Order: sequence, then structure tokens, then C-alpha cells
Amino acid sequence: AKEPVRVLVTGAAGQIGYALVPMIARGVMLGADQPVILHMLDIPPAAEALNGVKMELVDAAFPLLKGVVATTDAVEACTGVNVAVMVGGFPRKEGMERKDVMSKNVSIYKSQASALEQHAAPNCKVLVVANPANTNALILKEFAPSIPAKNITCLTRLDHNRALGQISEKLNVQVSDVKNVIIWGNHSSTQYPDVNHATVMTPSGEKPVRELVKDDAWLNGEFITTVQQRGAAIIKARKLSSALSAASAACDHIRDWVLGTPEGTWVSMGVYSDGSYNAPAGVIYSFPVTCKNGEWTIVQGLAIDEFSRKKLDLTGVELTEEKELAYSCLS
Ligand code: NDP
Repeated sequence: AKEPVRVLVTGAAGQIGYALVPMIARGVMLGADQPVILHMLDIPPAAEALNGVKMELVDAAFPLLKGVVATTDAVEACTGVNVAVMVGGFPRKEGMERKDVMSKNVSIYKSQASALEQHAAPNCKVLVVANPANTNALILKEFAPSIPAKNITCLTRLDHNRALGQISEKLNVQVSDVKNVIIWGNHSSTQYPDVNHATVMTPSGEKPVRELVKDDAWLNGEFITTVQQRGAAIIKARKLSSALSAASAACDHIRDWVLGTPEGTWVSMGVYSDGSYNAPAGVIYSFPVTCKNGEWTIVQGLAIDEFSRKKLDLTGVELTEEKELAYSCLS
């Protein structure tokens, strides 16, 4: 039998946490043959709710779930974890300036960086979900210098999956037949959902999305804004933010990172930029990546047209500004 993997979820008593922990305990994240021990962290005001989630995990009698740690102590939560999914964060409330939210969250991520660095298992893989996700991940990286930069990522897989979903709806094809969209840059409204390399499997072979959709105005306009603004559309409809799709995307992100991407398929991940595609280096930027043996690699050599170039640059500038703002909040 496999040794259990310890998975940390911060903000585990929140909405995304509530959708995410049962998926992990069912094997959706790490595989149906991989036992897990869940570590759930939340803040003291949420301690009672967190205990309620723990009770439900017991009641669900998940065969793969070998233990649950539910705590408000960051050290206890981080000890020995192999995977850390950072969902906990201060929500943006009405009337709050961008800088106020940034300030609250980067200081949370700075302190959690030390807890992870000192207590997580070696080679722990980290996924940041809480917003501003790219910049929180960057701060975590900067304040946990002994964790390799390649182990710290942020979630843009939800945006990636939303793009696949929109193409599948538009063409009336199965979403599993659509692949290789790209989300570039920041998990914010400046993100660039790019279909220039995306394909659909059809009865007569793999075809480019652009050839099948035949509607460049839609692809360059409404498609992009729909993906960028999908989060807001869900809040409007549900009166709550997207939680099940965010949780599912977090599972997809970790599963592909650990178990590998299928041959010929790439996915989008926010990773520490080396300046590929002339993106700013030294920020967490979303790129197309393939994964093998637990490591991601940025897909190289894709052609970037002029329309795309502008969009890659715009979201890069925003990330550079966020980085500066984050540092000004911490000093
Ligand atoms: P959610 O579970 O809905 O969201 C958690 C975080 O994920 C937020 O930062 C949210 O950003 C972000 N997020 C990223 N992508 C998405 C997406 N597609 N849809 C929705 N959210 C997304 O928030 P809750 O308030 O329900 O839960 C947060 C938990 O964190 C609570 O249990 C709270 O107690 C805990 N918390 C922990 C802190 C700490 O660790 N020190 C501090 C504050 C809270 P956005 O706000 O932009 O939607």
C-alpha cells in the first residue's frame, strides 16, 4: 500500500475549502489509489466551523482518508505536508482599496512562508489560490528562500478550464475534445486567454479552433471578455463566488503537476517567470506548461502575433506593478 500524502488546505472552513476537501479525500487530486491525510488550517473566528467540516469528513467515511488535522496553528498545519493549497485570504470588501486587500494578504503570505519553509516536507509543492494569487505566491516564494522557486505556483487553471468550456459550448463539442488553450499572465481581468494554438479533436482529426470557429471577432472579443469576467458573472448569478469550479481546478492543477500532463497536451499554471516569451522575469506569470516526473516545463517556441504580444505585455506590466505595491505594503 502507498504511504499517505499530507495535503494542507488553508482557509479550509471557507467556501472553496468546503468544496475542495471532499474532492481531495475522494482521490480527485492525487489519484484513486493514493491515501491522504488532510491538514486544514483556518483562523480562530472560523475554528468552530472548521471543526464542523472535520466532523463531516469523518461522517463521509472516505476510504482514502487516513487522518485529519484541523487547527488554527500554522506550525501544526504545515508540519510534514507534501502539498499545500493556500486558499485562505482576506476577501475584498466593499469600500476597500486594492492596496488594503494587498496589504492584508501579502502579510499573511509572508508569515505563512516561514511556517512552510520551516515545517513542510522537503520538496513540498505549493499552490496559491487566494487573491491576488500571483503576487501572494511571489511573496511566499521570496520569504521562503529555501523552498525551490519551481515548487511555488498559483492557480490559473480555472481560467484555462473556463476557456475550454466556452469553446466547447460555442462549437457544441465535448470539452474533453478541446485542448491547448493558454492563459497568459495575471489571474485578474488583464489575463489573456489565447486560442491561437488550441485544437479540437474531430472525426476527421485534430483541427485548429480558429479554423472551426470561423468567427475571429468573437474569438478576439466576446470570448476573451467572457473568460475574464466569468467570476463576476457567477457571483451575480449565485450571490456567492465560484467555489466548486475553483476547487475542481485546484485538483486539476496538482494532479497534472504530480502525475503529468498527457502527451501533446499543455495546461496553464502561474509559475516563477524566467522571462520566456519576453514576460517580465521574477514575477509569477501564467504560461503554458507540460508536466513530467513532478516538474513543470514552460512550452517554448509558440508563435505570438501582434495582437497577443500587446496582451502579454499588458498583463506583465500589471504584475510588475503588483510586485512593487506588495513590497511597499511590507516595508
Ligand atoms: P473563498 O473560499 O470563496 O475564497 C478564498 C480565496 O480564494 C479568496 O482570496 C478568493 O479571492 C480566492 N479565489 C481565487 N480564485 C477564486 C475563484 N475563482 N472564485 C472564488 N474565489 C477565488 O473565501 P471564503 O471567505 O469563503 O474563505 C476564506 C477562508 O480563509 C475563511 O475560512 C477565512 O476564515 C480564511 N482566512 C484566513 C486567513 C489567514 O489564513 N490568516 C485570513 C482571512 C481569512 P476573492 O476574495 O478575490 O474572491
